[in-house]
Amino acid sequence: MSEAEPLIRVMALHALAYCERLFYLEEVEEIRIADAAVYAGRRLHEELAADEGDFISLTLESETLGLKGKVDCIRRRDGRLIPYEHKRGRAKAGEEKPEPWPSDRLQVCAYALLVEEHTGIPIEEARIRYHADNATVRVPVDETAREDVRKAVVRARELSRSVERPPVTDNERLCLRCSLAPVCLPEEERLARDPRWDPVRLFPPDSDRQTVHVTDNGARVSRAGETLVITRTDGRKENFPIREVGQLVLHGYAQVSTQAIHLCTHSEVGIHWVTAGGRYVGSVASGASPVQRRIRQYEALRDPGLSFRLAKRLALARAEGQLRFLLRASRGEDRASSGVQVAVEGIRAALAGMGRAEGIDALRGHEGVAGRYYFSGLPALLRDDLDTRLQFSGRNRRPPKDCFNALLSFGYALLYRDVMQAILAVGLEPAFGFFHQPRSAAHPLTLDLMELFRVPLWDMPLIASMNRAQWDPDSDFAYAGPQVWLSETGREKAIEVYERRKEDQWRHPVTRYSLSYARLIELEVRLLEKEWTGEPGLFARMRLR
Ligand code: SF4
Repeated sequence: MSEAEPLIRVMALHALAYCERLFYLEEVEEIRIADAAVYAGRRLHEELAADEGDFISLTLESETLGLKGKVDCIRRRDGRLIPYEHKRGRAKAGEEKPEPWPSDRLQVCAYALLVEEHTGIPIEEARIRYHADNATVRVPVDETAREDVRKAVVRARELSRSVERPPVTDNERLCLRCSLAPVCLPEEERLARDPRWDPVRLFPPDSDRQTVHVTDNGARVSRAGETLVITRTDGRKENFPIREVGQLVLHGYAQVSTQAIHLCTHSEVGIHWVTAGGRYVGSVASGASPVQRRIRQYEALRDPGLSFRLAKRLALARAEGQLRFLLRASRGEDRASSGVQVAVEGIRAALAGMGRAEGIDALRGHEGVAGRYYFSGLPALLRDDLDTRLQFSGRNRRPPKDCFNALLSFGYALLYRDVMQAILAVGLEPAFGFFHQPRSAAHPLTLDLMELFRVPLWDMPLIASMNRAQWDPDSDFAYAGPQVWLSETGREKAIEVYERRKEDQWRHPVTRYSLSYARLIELEVRLLEKEWTGEPGLFARMRLR
């Protein structure tokens, strides 16, 4: 064993015995999710520390064993030392009596070896207390146990040196209780391997943390304990407990204190700055440690074959989404006279061209044509009696020249920021994409992924809100010569329409389970990563119905 190699945490051996992929995600990629079970485990240890007089938590490490860890408790019985490990759950049901779970056994034996080395007193037995069924299980620290610990340390070191994630476990039941299932996506990987697989949803359907937008230019965001406090220019204050916040978005020149930034980064809350017009400025996000992921992303996307296959799937998904929306929104209408039919036929021809395209330039050309036909069909979806200032007669941007384009641009900027947040949370590099070229300040991978969501997350709710006469051309917009921007009330309305849409539930046609659009963005980023880390084939298969 090399002395230069870092010590392995005993807790990591527990993960290793449970599932090698779990060990890799936690120890090598440094992804740790504190779910309800993890919090309950921490509480148990705090209660024990408070209640039990002889609960001594001891941190030990050994170069010889290659291990370090914190022993829950050591008791002296008849002159012998006995390490104890406390578990919140139940013991494994044995034929005659309760037995330890293999991962718990390995963990407590590793602690026993650490205690033995540090005290010089031979240890023959360790114990595990399972609190859910009030059972204490004795674990012999014999030669077999010692050999198991040694082998586990060797395997842990091998995995730590690898840049390849181990495959998902064959034992699906382990995944049901695994805190990293939403990151690992084992069921989706099984589905990619076998299309007949009926996946159980282990990915959370919804986010219990909200996005907080600060649109008031003079507002200040500060910290009070574990709470973000937003003080508006008129003195009004709003409090947001940090555990309820997923992202903080500062529009325009709102200020944020260093203390609030610290609180956000420690709580994995992304902070995003956007201009008053909605253009993305930058982010602070403490996502997963990304080194391994980015190495794999660079290696994968440097392969022109893979990049082209992904680009084709993405372009098809976007154009089919546009086509289906036009068809759906014009159902029962006279498409020929409204102009929708021309757009529909143009997109169909472009889709056929994309299917035949053999190079990225040809693909981009067909995708551009589909986009132009799509926007040419959109005006027909708006009601005829809208104020002329709200009508749409073609896409323009930088800067927008009419109300509809101002809304389109603002909504896409909101979407850009959400996609960016998901990419950073997954640990990918937003600047390294496969379809868009790095020509502007915008990150190509973020622009790539946005293509999947423009229609369902913004175009559809925007057209619906227009047809519900939700927009006031006088108070919701600001006119500066030929340029049109959203006023503060307009921005607040747009944010409300967009955030509400994110909460809508949608049944993913491939994974066949329902989830909110907010979660769908992250799911697709994770499925993209699977194109080069696991079982490929599920990314960009989502389609509007
Ligand atoms: S979800 Fe399953 S395969 Fe993935 S790390 Fe957890 S136990 Fe292993």
